[in-house]
Amino acid sequence: MIKKVLIANRGEIAVRIIRSCRELGLATVGVYSEADRKALHVRYADEAYCIGPAPSRESYLNIDNIIGAAKKSGADAIHPGYGFLSENPKFSQRCKEEGIIFIGPSAEAISAMGDKITARLTMNNAGVPVVPGTMEKITEEKKAIEVVREIGLPVMIKASAGGGGKGMRLVRNARELISSFRTAKSEALNAFGDDSVYIEKYIESPHHIEFQILADRHGNVIHLFERECSIQRRHQKVIEETPSPLMTPSLREEMGKFAVAAAKAVNYEGAGTIEFIVNDNLEYFFLEMNTRLQVEHPITERVVGVDLVKEQIHIANGFPLTLKQEDLCQNGHAIQCRIYAEDPDNNFMPQPGIISQITVPLGLGVRYDGYVYEGYEIPMYYDPLISKLISWGKTRKESIDRMRRALYEYKITGVKTNIKFLERIMDMEDFLEGKYNTNFIEKNRANLFTPKHCGTECEDMALIACFIDYLEKLERIQPQQFTEELASTWKDFGRKRSVLRL
Ligand code: ADP
Ligand code: ADP
Ligand code: MG
Repeated sequence: MIKKVLIANRGEIAVRIIRSCRELGLATVGVYSEADRKALHVRYADEAYCIGPAPSRESYLNIDNIIGAAKKSGADAIHPGYGFLSENPKFSQRCKEEGIIFIGPSAEAISAMGDKITARLTMNNAGVPVVPGTMEKITEEKKAIEVVREIGLPVMIKASAGGGGKGMRLVRNARELISSFRTAKSEALNAFGDDSVYIEKYIESPHHIEFQILADRHGNVIHLFERECSIQRRHQKVIEETPSPLMTPSLREEMGKFAVAAAKAVNYEGAGTIEFIVNDNLEYFFLEMNTRLQVEHPITERVVGVDLVKEQIHIANGFPLTLKQEDLCQNGHAIQCRIYAEDPDNNFMPQPGIISQITVPLGLGVRYDGYVYEGYEIPMYYDPLISKLISWGKTRKESIDRMRRALYEYKITGVKTNIKFLERIMDMEDFLEGKYNTNFIEKNRANLFTPKHCGTECEDMALIACFIDYLEKLERIQPQQFTEELASTWKDFGRKRSVLRL
């Protein structure tokens, strides 16, 4: 029985995992890099150990140091979160060898699914429809040309070890093929230390729809329905929702069965996600499996009514699943927005820096998973995700209205964020109608980014003017008049802002 869990991660996911452990009465151990001494997960954990310098390679990816911290603290289990070592078979194996429970699948299952080429082969053999393309790695340019001749353009050249939207190239033009092939290989080598690439057909008007699964050691596998993740930038999800507006009951049942079959094919244990690409004709193809907890798992938790981290721990303890497929249903609608410290108007460039002020949205139907606080400095070394905002509603419309309200309440100063950008998405017709695919951001480009004439300079100037006015009032008025009088200029400013298009 697990009693003490080391969380081999940082950021919002480390905080989120600690929360479930605490509810289960388990002790928690945090680990942190030198850049993360003041991070929230360090404060939340019962105890915490420094595992090395800021760069991930030397800390969050340093297996020896993490195992060292587990031994020192007497942790009997390790939860890897997402990213970092979560899909590293060596880490799962090492935990096993050290007698520490890895809260996740076996090294064998991770290897079978972690490498995208192997995963395609395994799924093809299990009868799951995969995206048409090669089942082996392509090393020669001649072969790449042959493959493209066979399957036709457009194609995606993908790194077998890819992840996080990195390591893939779309080729629409025969002229670009060779140069894209070369860059894809060198990028793959640089980013993942492995230059294996393969080629698959680019599915036009693609919808990314994935299924959450849970599998125990006793052969029970269930799915917890789908998540629609087609709002993406740079092949990475920004907004997720469940149920998917594209889904029909029969398609859900069919894809759910394939998701379960996929997990069974690799003797999977734990929580995992089967990702599919679906086109407008509702044809679907296996894309990849993520053998870990996913960034967007909270929307499933909300709609299905489970705590996926608790389920992971339950499974890791060797117990059979208590949830039964026939008892599960989707209740209402949930949306998640990923809040990034990034500048959407500048090609989504990450914006590390100090949070000077933060107001977090609350209220009915809103969940907030975050890790930053006032005065906290977002380090430049890691993913710029600072929080996730999840809204729930009885209907999709209520869920959207609630998200719009929550985004309105959410204020962060000090660093640029994508909050405004997300607010705009909540008002787009395509989104409101649920008619979108992964090209959504590109298609709505003209209305999603800040128009050029809306420089922030005039906004800054107006803010300074408001502040001067506020200071003058402070000197002028009586204390009992304070709230009314003092707030008005700011309110006015906010209200006029949209009218003036500042
Ligand atoms: P999800 O599918 O859960 O939404 P993402 O693809 O957005 O996950 O990745 C989640 C996190 O893991 C991100 O921080 C991403 O940068 C990181 N990540 C995922 N796969 C890899 C990989 N192969 N190499 C490096 N980082 C990765
Ligand atoms: P990662 O490991 O980085 O998550 P995926 O293979 O899951 O990589 O692909 C990420 C995203 O890239 C998908 O959600 C989709 O938007 C796009 N994509 C990948 N393969 C294809 C394809 N064959 N056709 C169309 N879009 C694709
Ligand atoms: Mg993926």
